[in-house]
Amino acid sequence: MNTTQNQTSYDVIISGAGPVGLFLACELALAQCSVLVLEKAGDPHSPLKQLPFGIRGLSSPTIEALYRRGLLDELEIHKRLKNPHLTAITNGPRRQVGHFAGIPFLDGNVDRSSWKYRLPGSPETSLMSEMQELEKIFARRAASLGVAILYGQAVSSFQQNADGVHVESGEQIFSGKWLVGCDGSRSIVRKLGGFEFVGTEPEFTGYTTMVDLADPEKLRPGRNLMSKGMYLQSQPGYLIMQDFDGGAFHGSGAPLTREHVQEVLRRISETHVMVTALHTATTWTDRARQATTYRNGRILLAGDAAHIHSPLGGQGLNLGLGDAMNLGWKLAATIHGFAPEDLLDTYFTERHPLGAQVLDWSRAQVAIMKPEPSARALNAIFRDLLDTRDGATYIAGRVWGIHTKYDLGGTHPFTGRSVPDFEFENGTRVGELLREGKGVLVDFDTNVELRNWAGNQKNQIRYFSGKAKDQLGLHALLVRPDGIVAWATDGEISISELEAAALY
Ligand SMILES: Cc1cc2nc3c(=O)[nH]c(=O)nc-3n(C[C@H](O)[C@H](O)[C@H](O)COP(=O)(O)OP(=O)(O)OC[C@H]3O[C@@H](n4cnc5c(N)ncnc54)[C@H](O)[C@@H]3O)c2cc1C
Repeated sequence: MNTTQNQTSYDVIISGAGPVGLFLACELALAQCSVLVLEKAGDPHSPLKQLPFGIRGLSSPTIEALYRRGLLDELEIHKRLKNPHLTAITNGPRRQVGHFAGIPFLDGNVDRSSWKYRLPGSPETSLMSEMQELEKIFARRAASLGVAILYGQAVSSFQQNADGVHVESGEQIFSGKWLVGCDGSRSIVRKLGGFEFVGTEPEFTGYTTMVDLADPEKLRPGRNLMSKGMYLQSQPGYLIMQDFDGGAFHGSGAPLTREHVQEVLRRISETHVMVTALHTATTWTDRARQATTYRNGRILLAGDAAHIHSPLGGQGLNLGLGDAMNLGWKLAATIHGFAPEDLLDTYFTERHPLGAQVLDWSRAQVAIMKPEPSARALNAIFRDLLDTRDGATYIAGRVWGIHTKYDLGGTHPFTGRSVPDFEFENGTRVGELLREGKGVLVDFDTNVELRNWAGNQKNQIRYFSGKAKDQLGLHALLVRPDGIVAWATDGEISISELEAAALY
């Protein structure tokens, strides 16, 4: 094949314009990097990204990320969205606000007052959203920041050397300093980039389908754990099933036909229900794997390219967007020469443990959903626990990512956590100070030394001084561009401690 070398060279080439690739592109472009996104699909729209298939639960770190970049108000769909997975009571303290292994936890049982780092007026802790809407918002922002996005342009191979990467796509070769694989669970960047992808094999094939049924009354509403698997019908014809076949059907590559869906549904629901038409369908599994490193030279991974697991508990997208928020500013600082390259190592050391936790979270759910007596016995115990205040608060805290904390080595309890959304006396909130994607030094006491220090930070750190309505006992704190506290003090100001915790 004759290939053409594209003349433009980019700071970063991203493989994949899914939510993670697009959001990462926005983060990099916000930090003044030139970015090219190559996307295999010719058309970014797909029924699988639209409701009800494209429904995605967003958790606290994602909602905060959107808020801190001024994107939260652009989400519209959640305002009129009924979560099709949840059919229980929708209002009042018995309102179902999430689940673990299909076992609901209720609003009235979640003790939000125990989350001491969350201030009144902070963004919500969970929201329903739609893949297509998210991607549209990110693509619009990326375009406005100057990102080039090419659809119908799959990455097929690449080479790296000490200075950069050459990426082949169709008949063209694109050059960049870095390549990031955000190309999903079957990532070609991961496969060709020499990454190990280790983990556990699936227990089941999951089905998400839109069908017509001749006799829908034969199925029970809501989520039903049966002796051979699980089925959930939350709105007419929208069916989710788990068939514990060891993932055999998903892996077989066999066509997903009306007859097959009917056979699985009949077997799991133990009825003779008739599927008269199959409109849209997809399968998935609980295979759980994670790359053992997220970087190989100038090649990086983020999102599903770096980790896969079952969608139970709805965490994959949140995990991937968290990768992008963590990687974006670090890669930009490396490219601009503000930071040594080993800042990038912290992308792996901070994000890999969180990914591993999510994989285990999904494995734990599968373990108590299996159609086996021991799993059913455990499931019953969990059901009791989730109906308690402590149980629901613990599970909600994990599902919504409330307690996310990186080990940054500092001793202050705020270090490594998402910054509380302090509101200053002039009405400004910390989240708004992060819009430009820079770090922020918050000085509650207007300290001259701190102001001078910030002034010497090559314009990379924004300085803000003022009293907050509730300072949670703090005098000052340094917030990274991704909203994580790098340094905080409630005692003497020590510039040397601040220096040691500085971002670059
Ligand atoms: C049924 C289901 C329900 C889910 N529910 C939730 C939920 O509620 N909450 C949640 O957080 N997560 C959920 N997830 C997981 C979530 O959808 C994924 O984790 C998320 O889409 C990952 O985003 P990504 O950008 O990393 O990958 P993807 O969304 O897979 O995007 C990858 C992109 O790369 C492109 N691509 C692939 N190969 C190439 C190539 N060679 N060159 C260029 N481009 C390429 C693809 O076309 C695609 O556009 C769910 C998943 C499923 C299956």
